Amino acid sequence: MPNRSISPNDVIPRPTAAFCWQNPVCYALIALLIVLGFAPAAKSEILDNPLGITFHSEDRSVSFTSKFPGGRMNECVQIADDDFAVTIQPESDPINDSAWYAFRVNSTEERTISVRLKYVGGSHRYDPKISRDGKNWESAEHLMADRHPAGTEVRLKIPVDGKPLWVAGQELLSSGTVAKWTSDLSQQPHVKRSVIGKSVQGRPLYRLDITETDHPDFVFIIARQHPPEVSGAIGMMHFVDALTSDNELATSFRKRYCAVVVPTVNPDGVALGNWRCNANGVDLNRDWMHFTQPETRALRNEMLKCRNAADQKLCLFMDFHSTYDDVFYTPPRDADLYPAGFTDNWLSAIQKRFPNYHVNGDDNHHAHRSTSKAWVADTLGVTAITYEFGDETDRETIRRVASGSAEEMMKLLLALPEPDSQMAAAQVSIQR
Ligand SMILES: [Zn+2]
Repeated sequence: MPNRSISPNDVIPRPTAAFCWQNPVCYALIALLIVLGFAPAAKSEILDNPLGITFHSEDRSVSFTSKFPGGRMNECVQIADDDFAVTIQPESDPINDSAWYAFRVNSTEERTISVRLKYVGGSHRYDPKISRDGKNWESAEHLMADRHPAGTEVRLKIPVDGKPLWVAGQELLSSGTVAKWTSDLSQQPHVKRSVIGKSVQGRPLYRLDITETDHPDFVFIIARQHPPEVSGAIGMMHFVDALTSDNELATSFRKRYCAVVVPTVNPDGVALGNWRCNANGVDLNRDWMHFTQPETRALRNEMLKCRNAADQKLCLFMDFHSTYDDVFYTPPRDADLYPAGFTDNWLSAIQKRFPNYHVNGDDNHHAHRSTSKAWVADTLGVTAITYEFGDETDRETIRRVASGSAEEMMKLLLALPEPDSQMAAAQVSIQR
C-alpha cells in the first residue's frame, strides 16, 4: 500500500456525511480510494489522539491543543491574561517517572506567555524542545523560568506570535513518521516490509526484513516500547540505516544475515502521548514473562519463527531505549550465551572506534526479570542488549555512535565461523 509522509500537522480530510451517504457514486469513489491506499477516514482514526484536548483563553487570543499524535496535556486553565497552568498526568499510577508533555500554542498576537507545567503522579524530566512546524525541533531549555525543587512544577516563559509553536519534552517522532521511514527503506530491493500484528487499538506493528539471502541467521532489533524514549528511537533508525547501506560491509552482512526490525513496538502509547505504557496501561517491557499484551505476543512469535528452520538461528537481540545517559545494559559477563564473547568484543570495538566517547557498559542491571532482554537471554540463550541513548545526548553524536556500532556489530558477526548445516541444527536444538 502506498504511503505518504505523515506529520502531526496533517489534516486528513473526512468525507462529509451528506456527500457520502446519500450518493451511491461516492461509495464507488471511496472503494477506489481504499483500493489505491487512500483511506482517509480509517487512517485519520488511527492517527488521531483521542485523549487530546483544546483550550482557548477567555478572549480566545491564545489557544492550546494536544489533539495530534503524541500530544499530552490533561488540562489547561487560565490564571491571568498571559498566565496558564497545564496539568500533565500519566496514563496509569504508579508509573515510571518519565513525565511526557506535548502541546501546540497559537496566539493572535506577539506576546510572552507564562505556562506552568503541573505534574500529577510524576516530576519534570524532559526540558522543553520547540518547533515551528512539528518536524524541525530545537532545544529550548532557556524557556525554563522556575522549577519547583521537587520537580512537580516548572514554569516556562514562551514567546508566541501569530504562528503555531509546538512545545514538547522531546522531538515528536510519530508512528506515522517512522512508518514512512520504513516504507522508504522498503523501496530498496533488500528490504521488505510486513505487518506482524496489531496493537490494542488496532495500529499496525511493522516489521522490516533486511537481507539478501533466503537462508539467513537473524539479528532482531526493536524500539519504542516506551513512548517518550525518542533518542533511543533515533539511534535505532541510524543503526538500521547502516545495515541497509550500499557499502561492502553491509552487503556482505545481508548475504549471510537478516536484520529483523520492529521499530515501533508501542504505537498506541506513542499516539496517545503515554509516559510509559500501552493502551491497556501495561508497561510492555515488564510483560515478557506472561505476554499478556498483543504487542509482546506478536514480537515473541516473530522471534520464535526466526528459529523454525533447522539451518537458521537467532544470533543477537537489541532493544533501543532512552535514559539519562548513554548506556549499554548487557547480560552478565559469565552468562553462557551465543555468540560467546560478543558483548565484550563489541563494546571494545566501539570504544576503539570512538576514543573520545565513553562506552558505558553495565552488566549488573537487573531491573526486572520480565524485560525483553531477560526473556531473550534466559529463554533463547542469545545475547540480548538494551541499548540506551541519553535523553539529551547530542543528536549528531547519536547518529555517529549508532551507525558506528552497527558497523562494528556487522564486522563481529561476519567474523563468526560459518557453521555447516549439521552444526547449525545442533545449535538450534541446544537453544531450544
Ligand atoms: Zn525504556
